[in-house]
Amino acid sequence: MATAHTTHQTDPMTESESIAYDVVVLGAGPVGENVADRTRAAGLSTAIVESELVGGECSYWACMPSKALLRPVLAHADARRLPGLSRAVRGPLDAAAVLARRNDYTAHWKDDGQVQWLDGIGADLYRGHGRLAGPRTVAVTGPDGERHVLTARHAVAVCTGTRAALPDLPGLADVRPWTSREATAAQEVPGRLVVVGGGVVATEMATAWQALGSQVTMLVRGKGLLNRMEPFAGELVAEALTEAGADVRTGTSVESVTRENGTVVVVTGTGDRIEADEILFATGRAPRTDDIGLDTVGLEPGSWLEVDDSLRVTGSKWLYAVGDANRRALLTHQGKYQARIAGAAIAARASGVPILESDPWGAHAATADHDAVPQVVFTDPEAASVGLSLAEAEQAGHRVRAVDYDLASVSGASLYGDGYRGRARMVVDMEREILLGVTFVGPGVGELIHSATIAVAGQVPISRLWHAVPSYPTISEVWLRLLEAYRDN
Ligand SMILES: Cc1cc2nc3c(=O)[nH]c(=O)nc-3n(C[C@H](O)[C@H](O)[C@H](O)COP(=O)(O)OP(=O)(O)OC[C@H]3O[C@@H](n4cnc5c(N)ncnc54)[C@H](O)[C@@H]3O)c2cc1C
Repeated sequence: MATAHTTHQTDPMTESESIAYDVVVLGAGPVGENVADRTRAAGLSTAIVESELVGGECSYWACMPSKALLRPVLAHADARRLPGLSRAVRGPLDAAAVLARRNDYTAHWKDDGQVQWLDGIGADLYRGHGRLAGPRTVAVTGPDGERHVLTARHAVAVCTGTRAALPDLPGLADVRPWTSREATAAQEVPGRLVVVGGGVVATEMATAWQALGSQVTMLVRGKGLLNRMEPFAGELVAEALTEAGADVRTGTSVESVTRENGTVVVVTGTGDRIEADEILFATGRAPRTDDIGLDTVGLEPGSWLEVDDSLRVTGSKWLYAVGDANRRALLTHQGKYQARIAGAAIAARASGVPILESDPWGAHAATADHDAVPQVVFTDPEAASVGLSLAEAEQAGHRVRAVDYDLASVSGASLYGDGYRGRARMVVDMEREILLGVTFVGPGVGELIHSATIAVAGQVPISRLWHAVPSYPTISEVWLRLLEAYRDN
């Protein structure tokens, strides 16, 4: 264990010896790691508690394995659209090789590398389940039942993330459904896979497994896919999934699900019966706050933790909630952004600096959470957005105009091949003439979205965007076309 500035005293509540740190971080996912990194960089002694693998959901059952599965799928799709290359890549993907590469990406579900990194920054790792045991106190029960009590002079940061939320269907546990964990870690390609849900995890995993050889049926309760984005994102992705061979059924709920002699049998709300080898429920996330002792500090177990812009829990002077656990944006990059801010806020307050009060838009406030959250959905086509959709902007009372452009008409996109399909939209605040949101859908747009993030977060006036000249011939030229469409209509 790395050395930190620990002192020993007796905890009056438990009468066991407690170890005092400046900061205790609960959960060593990407967000907890980054809080610890910032507080250690500020010279604060820091303990971090992890019940599973250091690196969290993102490294082993979410971002990394899902993108490792999807990268070959998207590269293959790009190649098949390109004359001169398409004939060379006619065959199916080598699923075994894709799964093996995914296994390497997750370090075979071992966390030695990340433990070493924690050691390098001088944070003390406690393996085990952590629970608050009153103000500023975290009790850790280790894998062999050993117990440590940690006290925090300045802050406890809850970074416990989320788990998959399953619907309340009778007998579901007996079906042994896939959640995002099994969908990202499976070692074999199921012959038939039912995917329940139409959000990011559902569409990404349907894209991956259909391309790896499964016959995918998507059961989507709502009207379409990706319903938090502009409607054309879900439409283009559904169209492409259908062309790839998936059966996408919208307006369809699951009435019952059973497993009979190994086969999953689903009955839908419309009375259809579907048989499959596996069923994935990608039906939302729940906070992992049900068993972390929230009741000992007057908070509701199982709740999302409400925070201010410094990520401090409402009403508390010492408790922070960072990343997925506060529900502001269930994304690794946004959680790590919050972690940098929370770490800086904890350090500033530890040295007596008032922060939000003196500088509400400064380095100690996660303001981007409100209006400039970027997200990339790694489907074919990719869907990428930042800020508000048209509907969200209107709902928030802005006077806006949406400007659309067909991405296939941009010369950079035509280089991708004959079948390029995509669309772009910018949502303009007509009072301030700045962008409130941008959405791109099309192959390769994931790498384009940061330009939009800069425009939205920086509130760059449209008059200045004309001077940000996109290179020819890249897909970025869509910026010029959007500005022309805005000027001319
Ligand atoms: C399939 C899938 C794909 C995704 N892809 C992307 C993507 O491409 N890009 C992106 O930005 N986001 C993606 N996400 C979201 C991303 O995974 C999360 O936003 C991110 O993991 C949140 O980080 P976190 O540190 O808050 O929580 P987590 O990563 O969930 O980490 C929390 C950690 O806390 C530990 N913990 C929990 N309770 C306790 C306790 N009581 N004691 C000790 N330890 C505890 C857990 O074991 C875990 O290690 C994806 C999610 C899913 C499900």
